[in-house]
Amino acid sequence: GPDAIQTDAVIVGAGPVGLFQVFELGLLEVKAHIIDSLAYPGGQCIELYPDKPIYDIPAVPICTGKELTDNLLKQIEPFGATFHLGQEVTTVLKQEDGRFFVETSKGTQFLTKTIFIAGGVGSFQPRTLKVDGIDKYEGNQLHYRVRNPAQFAGKNLVIVGGGDSALDWALNFCAGNADGSANKAESVILLHRRDGFKAAPASVAKMRELCDAYEMQFVVGQVTDIVEADGVLTDIKVTGGDGVTRVMPCEQLLVFFGLSPKLGPIAEWGLALERKQIVVDTEKFQTSVPGIFAVGDVNTYPGKKKLILSGFHECALAAFGAMPYISPDKRIHLQYTTTSPKLHKVLGVE
Ligand code: FAD
Repeated sequence: GPDAIQTDAVIVGAGPVGLFQVFELGLLEVKAHIIDSLAYPGGQCIELYPDKPIYDIPAVPICTGKELTDNLLKQIEPFGATFHLGQEVTTVLKQEDGRFFVETSKGTQFLTKTIFIAGGVGSFQPRTLKVDGIDKYEGNQLHYRVRNPAQFAGKNLVIVGGGDSALDWALNFCAGNADGSANKAESVILLHRRDGFKAAPASVAKMRELCDAYEMQFVVGQVTDIVEADGVLTDIKVTGGDGVTRVMPCEQLLVFFGLSPKLGPIAEWGLALERKQIVVDTEKFQTSVPGIFAVGDVNTYPGKKKLILSGFHECALAAFGAMPYISPDKRIHLQYTTTSPKLHKVLGVE
């Protein structure tokens, strides 16, 4: 469309490898737009293991997933990449002029000379509740994320799950919890398939305290069916650990089963795939479509190892490989960051 952002490079995915792609393009004086379906950068490092130590980043003996992400963000700061977070890239179409039209789930549009897919194991999506007939209530009475806490004030809530999200929201909405949150529900039932949690012990203790005070309720069981009246979800059926199914009134159902990655729309962009990975060469890490490159966990080639350090190397070669599409007349030389006055200028360290 006429409002499309015109750019040299779009990076799909802001995991560690997408972030380092910003750096390698930046050294070649290419500004990038970077998009992620998550609301924050870091990919698997942030979503799956923020506090776990990584030991095999060259010259960094130990750092956590969060530290690696923070350091990458600091390292790419000079290059002023534009972040578009909380939106999934849905569409990639080749234009007649050789550029690509890219669109996200939020309607952000780009016209770009090159694309770097750093989509990792896919875009993270909430795991859904598998119960017949329940999908049509999503966004209305069934929720996998809380966008607007005020919409749950004064409602009867059933919150499903045993992790930090489920516990945090149950406590947040519980009227008996004096934490200052403004959006207290009428009632809160926490539902989990077992009496054991993968959440901060302090939250679990607080939840039990509130249950003992009759401020909220904890039930062991799973949602197995729903009860509807005139197109409205009125109750859920919950099968308990004892095998008995009971009816539980429910105005709003909030489900927190964690996020799972899905390759998703990337599979539909006409790129050669092998076992859900994008086939690339090892000279430029280019896909079967000239001008589209793929780096990090999302690609495959003989000998591929899904390691962060491999992804970093791929970024460097992909950036050089993309220059003929971005600046066909420019001669590109390899320069050292230690000694090149030009790179010092680009890095803002002169
Ligand atoms: P990811 O980190 O998966 O990031 C991809 C991003 O792309 C995601 O944020 C996703 O939301 C986004 N995305 C995908 N599709 C779209 C789309 N269509 N639109 C918008 N956004 C999209 N590696 C090591 O080298 N050393 C280790 O010690 C190590 N430990 C690990 C421990 C665990 C528990 C796990 C799970 C992995 C570990 N890894 C380790 C692997 C490492 O995390 C991955 O190799 C690395 O995260 C890959 O980076 P990436 O940027 O390619 O992809």
